[in-house]
Amino acid sequence: MIETVMPTYARNKIGFEKGSGCWLYGTDGKAYLDAGSGIAVNSLGHSHPKLIEALTEQAGQIWHTSNLYRIPIQERLASLLVQHTFADTVFFTNSGAEAVECAVKTARKFWHHKGQPARNQIITLNQSFHGRTLGMISAAGNEKLTRGFAPLLPGFVQVEPNDLVAVEKEIGEHTAAILIEPILGEGGILPLDDLYLKKLRLLCDSTGTLLIVDEIQTGMGRTGKLFAHEFAGISPDIMAIAKGIGGGFPIGACLATEQAAIGMTVGSHGSTFGGNPLACAVGCAVMEIIANNDMLHHVRTVARDFRQQLESLIGSHPDIFEEIRGEGLMLGIKCKVPNSAVIEACFNQQLLTIIGGDNVVRILPPLIIDQEDATEIVKRLDKAAEHIRVTQDA
Ligand SMILES: *Cc1c(COP(=O)(O)O)cnc(C)c1O
Repeated sequence: MIETVMPTYARNKIGFEKGSGCWLYGTDGKAYLDAGSGIAVNSLGHSHPKLIEALTEQAGQIWHTSNLYRIPIQERLASLLVQHTFADTVFFTNSGAEAVECAVKTARKFWHHKGQPARNQIITLNQSFHGRTLGMISAAGNEKLTRGFAPLLPGFVQVEPNDLVAVEKEIGEHTAAILIEPILGEGGILPLDDLYLKKLRLLCDSTGTLLIVDEIQTGMGRTGKLFAHEFAGISPDIMAIAKGIGGGFPIGACLATEQAAIGMTVGSHGSTFGGNPLACAVGCAVMEIIANNDMLHHVRTVARDFRQQLESLIGSHPDIFEEIRGEGLMLGIKCKVPNSAVIEACFNQQLLTIIGGDNVVRILPPLIIDQEDATEIVKRLDKAAEHIRVTQDA
């Protein structure tokens, strides 16, 4: 008989009943070190007192009113996001996929508004991931996501990441926008080169094409900048965010410049729950903590030392690990043995890591992690690698 929860996930048999900082306490009575943050979501770790306070305080006031009415806390979060980014305006969603959907709709509507509705194609990257709606699996075009779900949505074409010539060949009179992740997350922590991003921006400028960045995983301080596109010194026209902004509460957002959002007028888009007071109260608390030089400085400092330790770990296990890539606390370990075996070995060391494409293990600890817990991650990775070697030799 089918499970009562639809069996679409390969779940671990352990669940967690409590969390604190970088630690999770399992139903098996053991403490686990969290180097996954619920897939880059628990940006401030578990049970952060400021987030508990924000949520419970809001819960005692008002939960939901719908977007038929003004939502002051939503306006406050929008202002915080606008203050700290390229954007002039924000649409709130409940998830990442919805945020990218809104970004694509905004780009298409822009050209419709300009009287060029045929400019509706979106260029995306191979190995990218933008969520699981029909629109977003069509956008990524990855067979693993799309198999069995045809017909897909037309209007998306994929090119190889970091290949400017491929974009130049594809871009044309039908191109509305280019949609990229500055570091491909699910794809296996594949960073786009700064120079590529700079040239992509120039190409967009010279052709009028809109640049959409999906910073759902890279954003909210994860890389050591508030948003990863800042490393390349570029600014997008539209940006999707989610994951880290809620610190564990579901919320996403589509940010845009005033120009790019020109078609998003009354009635053009909506969401019953999007920008709900509970979500926005938490979002404000997260923004106030992360969008601040101390926190970003902390991420860069911890990450520098952590990265060095991880590099020497690779040196000690050249038969198990190949390389470390990524930025800040968005790191990937490319493996020489199956990544699933490494993740299992880590789990047995009570270390939680996340699978990624290209045989990568993702290391995405809470941004609040200290030097001691970072060192503990490396120790446990070391033990896991040692264990894999022993089992292989046996
Ligand atoms: C997780 C993720 C999404 C999808 O977010 P959901 O909240 O699962 O819909 C989209 N894009 C990127 C880059 C992601 O990492």
